[in-house]
Parts: sequence; structure tokens; C-alpha cells
Amino acid sequence: MPIRRLDPATVAGISAGEVIERPASIVKELVENALDAGATRITVELERGGLGLIRVTDDGCGIPSGEALLAFDRHATSKLAVLDDLGTLATYGFRGEALAAIAAAGEVELLTRPGGVTDGVRVAGGGGVALTVGPAGCPAGTSLAVRRLFAAMPARLKFLRSPQAEAAAAARVVEACVLTRPGVHLVLRVDGEERLNAPRAADAAGRLRAILGASASTLIPFDRGEAGWRAHGLAEPPGAVRRRGRQWVIVNGRPVEDRALRHALLSAYAGQLPRDTQPHAVVYLDVPPAQVDVNVHPAKAEVRFADPSTAYRTVLRAVRDGFASAGVAPRAAAAAAGESPAGAETGTGPVPAGALPAAEPAWNWETPSGSGGVEVLGQLFRTYIVARLPDGLVLVDQHTAHEKILYEEMATQAAAAVTQPLLLPHTIELAPSEVLRLSGQEPALRALGFDLEPFGGNAIVVRAIPAGARDRDIGPLLRWLVEDLEQAGRATAPGELNHKLRATVACHLAAKAGDHLERAEMEGIVRGLLALADPASCPHGRPTFVKYDEGDLARQFRRTWGLGKRECH
Ligand code: ADP
Ligand code: MG
Repeated sequence: MPIRRLDPATVAGISAGEVIERPASIVKELVENALDAGATRITVELERGGLGLIRVTDDGCGIPSGEALLAFDRHATSKLAVLDDLGTLATYGFRGEALAAIAAAGEVELLTRPGGVTDGVRVAGGGGVALTVGPAGCPAGTSLAVRRLFAAMPARLKFLRSPQAEAAAAARVVEACVLTRPGVHLVLRVDGEERLNAPRAADAAGRLRAILGASASTLIPFDRGEAGWRAHGLAEPPGAVRRRGRQWVIVNGRPVEDRALRHALLSAYAGQLPRDTQPHAVVYLDVPPAQVDVNVHPAKAEVRFADPSTAYRTVLRAVRDGFASAGVAPRAAAAAAGESPAGAETGTGPVPAGALPAAEPAWNWETPSGSGGVEVLGQLFRTYIVARLPDGLVLVDQHTAHEKILYEEMATQAAAAVTQPLLLPHTIELAPSEVLRLSGQEPALRALGFDLEPFGGNAIVVRAIPAGARDRDIGPLLRWLVEDLEQAGRATAPGELNHKLRATVACHLAAKAGDHLERAEMEGIVRGLLALADPASCPHGRPTFVKYDEGDLARQFRRTWGLGKRECH
């Protein structure tokens, strides 16, 4: 697309804002432009923390000579024509503001040449001086140098930190790019010295080595997803964390600052991080594009999720599963060492025999957080969620409530919404009788989220499983369903059979009594439950919650209100 000015309506529709705060912001914008230009090699040079020089050189598509000057116009972009394109945009840039803002903040020199043409072009000026354009010889690609940054903006200069701190901030931008774009060779040079050299690598582990060195190889890989959401990456094993490590969170390919997602990552360590330490970790969260809004912050470091609790849960579960598969799960380690995870709090009151390990507190306090009128206060006996509603207190049975939610999802949503395709089809062996019992039931199983196919002999190929299920659930779950089918017999009406199968799947996938739940999970359950038309009982008929409103409490405490009455009569 040629570079052109956005129309005013489109300009008004995108979050605009001052993008140039410090050298790192310039590095970020220029590196993103290079990536948008399809570069395979990008070199970033800094002198004096960026105040002496910032130069980003790429081997991307270059800018046609006729457009080079226009690129510095405010709201001139080649990446977005109308606001409708925003949702489908695959580029980093789209506001057309960066080059204009950079040229206002310092002196610029652009050298650029598209691959197919012989002559390049040079644009120079800025920092209060008019831009001039002229022919120039240069390699294919683009290089943009910024000098005398903020020379005419003493207020900005005052807010800058030391050259080392500014260079470090810029280096973090390059590191994030190393992790998001494994196919791009990145080089960072600071005051003439090469600080980072990340050749192309096939995977995140290879790229992480360019940043962390040999310690990258001790990180545990994780990868788990469901229903279009997937979290994968690498995290330092619990028990090995000794210092303040670095965490990167990358949502749909964009590095973001998201406290909730970092919290989700840290929660997977279940309180096992020594004081003042943090793990090294990189988390890639891939979410359906419609579920995330990246257009929230001018510097694009923040995102907003349509469903933040699913984002939280996806990350937490993926990391936790990764630790479990690698045999480094924090809870096992804690039990072996005889520690109680949260330390200080110990609960009182009756604990159902066998429901909890001895050292567990009965009461898992959460810092209350409100959303949608539901404020989760904590988890009791690892079985009940305690929450405050606008009109009272509610105790929710975490299993029956979750079971009910999952059941209703299967009953009311299309099959596509309750299934998760497996990346690699899974083959399982069942007894011959079980295979036979399942054959002919494909439509019923499809409504539950299963996509199965006989594979000769006693093997079944599983191509998709119910959303929320894990690989290891497949065998047990199918055996439960076989049992339901056995019991149902010929006389059972199809509606009755479907109800039974759904209830079985929901029961199997729901949180169990004894499971530790994170706040986001508890909130999800309470809110999900209360959103149902008929929330009171689970598919097997057990109650899902008990509620106390003001009147209930007044009756319990035998409060009688009236004029002139004293409190204790
Ligand atoms: P945006 O990236 O939001 O479009 P910018 O001000 O960063 O806005 O850049 C304006 C335009 O200049 C881009 O749309 C692009 O066409 C062109 N451009 C900037 N940097 C490069 C580069 N490194 N290689 C090729 N084209 C570039
Ligand atoms: Mg840009």
C-alpha cells in the first residue's frame, strides 16, 4: 500500500498519544517499522544512551523515493486505509505518527532504497529544522538515525535517566523483539560494542539463549490451550529460582505489560518463590483476535481482553501443567519439605477428614477483588467459594457449580464452541467391547466436543476433545461414557441419554473438592453460575450454592428492628 494520510475520522478512532518519551520509545518504533517492512536483519546502534545517536538499519522493503518525505507527515501511513481495517491489522504500526514525532524530537537522517531500484533517497532535518529530501546512494533497505535527541526539549531531557539506564531500556525493547520474531536476525551495539547478537533460531529456547545465555536451557517448556486460547513458552523450574529473573509476556505476538498475566505466571509457583526472587520466563499467549484489543495504549504495551479470566486461567494452567509434566510441580515439593504453601494463615473449624493435607489452612484468603458485582473473599476447606454479592453472602460448592456451568455450555452452545481440536491426533487403545459400544455414537459424542474415528483393531483416533479437557482425560472420560451407554440400554430416550453423557463429561472436567483455585477461577465460577437461568442445582440434583441475604442474617441473629428499640433487647 502506498503511504497516504489517514482521513480525520480514522485518526479520531485510533488511540493517539505522545509516543516519544525516551530513547527506548524511538528504538521500539523504528524496530517495529523495520519489522513491518519485512526485514530479516535489523541492527540497532546507540551512543550515550541514545542522546548521541540512535540508528536502526534494516534490509526491509525500503520506501519509494516519492514517498520518503510523506512518511514524516503526521498520520501518514502505508498500513491502514480506513478504521474498519483495524481489527484485521497484521502490522505493528498503523497510526502514522512515529516518524513525525521522532522528527519533532531530534535531528533525523533517513536513508532508504527499495530493493528493485538503483537510486536511494535521503531525508534529513528535523528537531525544529525543515526536512529536505535528495537522492543518495545506500544499500537496499532503510536506516534511520536520530541525533541531538530532545536538544530543544529541556523538560524531556530532565526526565531521562543515566545513559546506562536508557541503553538498558532500549536493550529490553530489542530483547522483546528477539523473543517475538525468531526469524529476524537482531544485533544491538552500544557505544561501539556488540551487546546482543541473535541469529535466526527455530524456537523460543534458541532465541532465549541469545538473551540469558546458558541458563536458558534450564527452563521448563509448557504448552497448553483450549478453544482457540493457547499459552506456551518456557519458565524457570520452581525451586531453582535464586534471583530476580525476567518475565516476558507476549500476546498474539506483541510484548505487553500485563500485571494480571504476570500474576498468573507467578501463581503457578504456588507461593514457592523465595522472597525477593522472580523466575525467568517467557509466556506466549495466543488468543482469538476478537478477544483482545491492542489499541488501548499509545505505546501499545497494554492489551484489554474481552474475557480476562480465561486469559489468566490459560496462562496459569499451562505453566502449572508444564511443571507437572516435567515432574517439578511446586506443590509436591512443598509437601515433601513439609511446608505449608501460604505460610502464615492457619484456619480453624472442622475440616472434612481426608479432604485436606494436614498442614493446609482451611481458609484460603484472597485479596478481595470486585468485578461484575461479585467479590470473591476466599476458598473454604478447598471446597467452597465464599463471595460477597451486592445483596448478601454466598457459599458456592466449587464442584457442583462448575459442573453445572460446563453442563449448560454443552447443552446450549454449538458443538464448535465446546470442542478443542488437538494439534496432533491422539490414538488410544480401548477394550474391544468399549470400541464397539462407542461405534455409532459419533453424533452424540460430537455434541460433547469429541471428534473420534475408529482406527482399526481396538484403536480410536481422537482429533478433538471437549474444551477444558486434557490429553490425559481422554481415556478415563471415554470409559465413563461407555459405562453410561451400557447402563442406558435400548429403552432410554435420546434426550435422557444426552443429558446423562453431558453430565458425565461436566462432572469429569469440573474442579473437584480439594482443588486449590485461583481467584480468577473462583470469580469465573461464581459469575458463570449466577449468569445461568437456573443456577440452583447441578445436573445430578445437588445444590450449587447457599445464599444469605440481609433478611436471612437478621433472622439468624434474631435482630428485630424498630423505632426506639435498643440493640440487645
Ligand atoms: P506507521 O508505522 O504507523 O505507519 P510511521 O510514522 O512509523 O507510521 O511510518 C510511516 C510510514 O513510513 C510507514 O507506514 C511506512 O510506509 C514507512 N516506513 C517507516 N519506516 C520504514 C522502514 N524501516 N521500511 C520501510 N518503510 C518504512
Ligand atoms: Mg511505525
